Amino acid sequence: MSEMYSDETIHALTEALGFSPENTTLRGQVAEMLMGRGRLQEAEEMLRDGLKRSPGHLGLGLAMGECLLRLERRPEAVVVLESLVGPAGSDAAALVQLAGLLLRAGERDSASLVYRRAVREDPGRAEPKLGKELGVVPNQESDEPDQPEDLPFDDALDDEEWDEAAGRVRVRADHSPSGSPIEMERPSMGFDDVGGMQGLKEEVRLKIIEPIRNADLYKAYGKSIGGGILMYGPPGCGKTHLARATAGQIDAGFLAVGIHDVLEMWLGQSEQKLHALFDYARANTPCVLFFDEVDALGMKRSAVGGSGGRNVINQLLSELDGVRDRNDGVLILAATNAPWDLDAALRRPGRFDRVIFVPPPDTAGAAAILRLHLQGKPQEAIDVSTVAAKCSGFSGADLKAVVDRAVEAKLSDALKTGTPEPITTRDLVKAARKTRASTREWFATAKNHALYSNDSGHYDDILDYLKIKR
Ligand code: ATP
Repeated sequence: MSEMYSDETIHALTEALGFSPENTTLRGQVAEMLMGRGRLQEAEEMLRDGLKRSPGHLGLGLAMGECLLRLERRPEAVVVLESLVGPAGSDAAALVQLAGLLLRAGERDSASLVYRRAVREDPGRAEPKLGKELGVVPNQESDEPDQPEDLPFDDALDDEEWDEAAGRVRVRADHSPSGSPIEMERPSMGFDDVGGMQGLKEEVRLKIIEPIRNADLYKAYGKSIGGGILMYGPPGCGKTHLARATAGQIDAGFLAVGIHDVLEMWLGQSEQKLHALFDYARANTPCVLFFDEVDALGMKRSAVGGSGGRNVINQLLSELDGVRDRNDGVLILAATNAPWDLDAALRRPGRFDRVIFVPPPDTAGAAAILRLHLQGKPQEAIDVSTVAAKCSGFSGADLKAVVDRAVEAKLSDALKTGTPEPITTRDLVKAARKTRASTREWFATAKNHALYSNDSGHYDDILDYLKIKR
């Protein structure tokens, strides 16, 4: 509503609202009018009253987000806006509006996710300017269902992966030389956004960042360059997060590739697709090429099927060797939850010759992760160490869930009382009690491998973590 209404009109409508306070449409309109006149405090009061009467109301919530942003109360705006992601459901218009507000609130990843959902619900609602700002280019091939093989990364964003990908939004920002769309992310985060993991950050810096930055120096000392780092460990402990932050740390692009995608979606042409992917990476340096689920290439996995898996491995090995020989600004990282299924050839020098265990964070790491996820949220002075001490075995993703849970509880209270209260240490401890450490199952399996098939000492780190004597 962009027209400017007179104070008299607003006054009359406010009076009318007094007679039918449950009329949320009218309330929303009056609030918009007040905002149009710059009467933000009054608009806020009106919306708060409305939200008290109709908790979770989408239109009022959106208006409240807008109002709080204009009042420059960003943390509160973020809490209100993020609470609307669920209620917005499949309402494309609301989702587009929500995406715009989230972007203004500085929540770029959430905005991008919400915008993509809106456009998938109703492509007609796309707003090119917003899409461009979010780096989300329309799916140009969607009218050509006959050529799905040209759309490998598009297909990767089906419904199921959408949820799973919630923490790792991929933004398509470019097109490969061959014309097929490939999603290259430009992460805005860096190592400061990764809690704990000091050893691993240092390893990544020495092993892959510095050699790229100081190639001549490394050569002068006869130090070989190249080779990737393979991270393994329980799910949710920050492998992908660190890979993405590595890209952001050096202003490089980020290409995330699930090996399952390579094998299943590109059935019959995985080798060519892998080659095209490396070509694309080389043409867009510097970039971090991140392979997830590399265990899917292991020959022990019959699910991969026949000789296809072998060919893909050979192709991957020769591409990795090519990257090493040319040292061309492509940084390779990979991750797996099942290192015991890995093909041994991947561990050879110049390939993934650094294989690093990524355990759940220790107490100090957990405190740092909690602090990161609490950033920008209304809070009292929080004793994160006390909370972290209750989070033994929690992954980074579990810790994020603790914060999310505390925020949700706070929000539902705020919608009832109309007054947002800051998050406290107690809220977080309560949320931690309700959250399960998700890494336990992984360790149950890992322990067996570490005890009974550890001939080459690959899993000593797991035994050390579990405090089992070797
Ligand atoms: P998987 O093996 O299931 O792929 P993963 O080890 O790659 O898991 P991530 O996807 O990196 O785990 O982590 C999931 C989410 O947990 C991240 O998006 C991030 O929000 C949070 N997280 C994990 N580790 C950290 C960390 N060290 N600092 C901050 N956030 C973290």
